[in-house]
Amino acid sequence: MRIFTAVLATETNTFSPICVDRRAFEASLYAPPGEHPETPTLCSAPITVGRQVAAEKGWELIEGTAAWADPAGLVNRTAYEGLRDEILDQLRAAMPVDAVVLGLHGAMVAAGYEDPEGDFLTRVRKIVGPDILVCAELDPHSHLTKKRLAAANFFVYFKEFPHTDFVDRAEDLWRIAVDTLEGRVKAVMSVFDCRMIDVYPTSREPMRSFVDKIMTIEKDADILSISVIHGFMAGDVPEMGTKLLVVTDNKPDKGSALARELGLELFSKRGTFMMPQIDEKLAVAQAMAAHSGPVVIADVWDNPGGGTAGDATVILEELLAHGARETAIGTIWDPMAVQICMAAGEGAEIPLRFGAKSAPGTGNPIDGIVKVVRLVANAEMRFGESFAPFGDAAHIELNGIDIILNSTRAQSFDPSLFSVMGIDPTRKKILVIKSTNHFYASFSKIASEILYCSAGTPYPNNPARTPYRRAPKDIWPMVADPHAAKEGAA
Ligand SMILES: [Zn+2]
Repeated sequence: MRIFTAVLATETNTFSPICVDRRAFEASLYAPPGEHPETPTLCSAPITVGRQVAAEKGWELIEGTAAWADPAGLVNRTAYEGLRDEILDQLRAAMPVDAVVLGLHGAMVAAGYEDPEGDFLTRVRKIVGPDILVCAELDPHSHLTKKRLAAANFFVYFKEFPHTDFVDRAEDLWRIAVDTLEGRVKAVMSVFDCRMIDVYPTSREPMRSFVDKIMTIEKDADILSISVIHGFMAGDVPEMGTKLLVVTDNKPDKGSALARELGLELFSKRGTFMMPQIDEKLAVAQAMAAHSGPVVIADVWDNPGGGTAGDATVILEELLAHGARETAIGTIWDPMAVQICMAAGEGAEIPLRFGAKSAPGTGNPIDGIVKVVRLVANAEMRFGESFAPFGDAAHIELNGIDIILNSTRAQSFDPSLFSVMGIDPTRKKILVIKSTNHFYASFSKIASEILYCSAGTPYPNNPARTPYRRAPKDIWPMVADPHAAKEGAA
């Protein structure tokens, strides 16, 4: 067997001011054929798992380009078309192939393309013809469009959020691909549109039990894979929303019935998935009143992992207004301010304006005489077994508050982001971080308490109020009962 694999992935928050060009892919992951590292990034496990499968089977794996950009705003048209055509040319050169196994994200939006993955898959299908297996692994924070369903044989999505299972799901993808190629199964997709949009962390109830339940149902031999496509509310595209996907061994009726049953169960739990959140006034008051620390205030919606700039100052303004001490903020993205601090040098006291420059709803830039405490070039924090870069960084002090300014947008994965900047996070009363969910595993080990704070409007986190132009307006929470409305009208 000859199998072609490639990766083209990013997550586009169409409301984000941070546009993505080819350099953004090159800064995150750009690996020409054969140069993908041994360890995968989020969307490139189909390549690394594919190498193992090909070695075991004695099959030929033809690697195309792997490109991933960290989540941000609209993708530049030339960048998308260039990467797409590079991979399509590689596929043409590799023909004939027996299968195409891809790593996608599924929430990309490029200038001129509302559904780049649908466009890409359609072109792949055109090259290989109707009878060749085309499949992909995707992130559940994505849009499942009719175009994609028509172009591919099957999809497998990560089940966990945080996405701890991207390698496990790539193994599922390849297992189903191998069973298909060896004639044991015929993968057929059935989809139910839940007609809703929400955020579904699997680290807490009710989603934890829901995912455990679908993994039990997958033990049925007819069921090859079940995915919840969470949807991505920051992507203003026509097919935005939550979908339930069941891949069966050629049992479309059974698949449709199960997708509908599970989809309606999920719909019945709408609005209960997120952790309760408080505003910045309550968060700061509670943290300052706490008897022990560190109290971690998570600025959950200014999360660069969801494509925002990560420069909001709403919580910091509240802390400054109340004279908070023993407090550290990690991080506020401001490359210009970092550059100024680097020029000033450690120990300098300088007038500085920083933060809240990228978008409305992120607070106001902070002005003050700051002390430059520590400067680190190419700073990195731990992230599980690996490291996450946050660029040149400056630890500054303003009115007794330690603030880390960074130049590469990064969510706050781990307390080591403070220690590399010379701040002992365990000795602080209050830590403010920017992350929705990924921070929990590491920060919960040192936190006396965690407060989930919704501060300002850096992210379109309230779909009922978001000024969508292209997304559907007849799904929950924009309307109370979209299923009744739809079925009543039909
Ligand atoms: Zn995701």
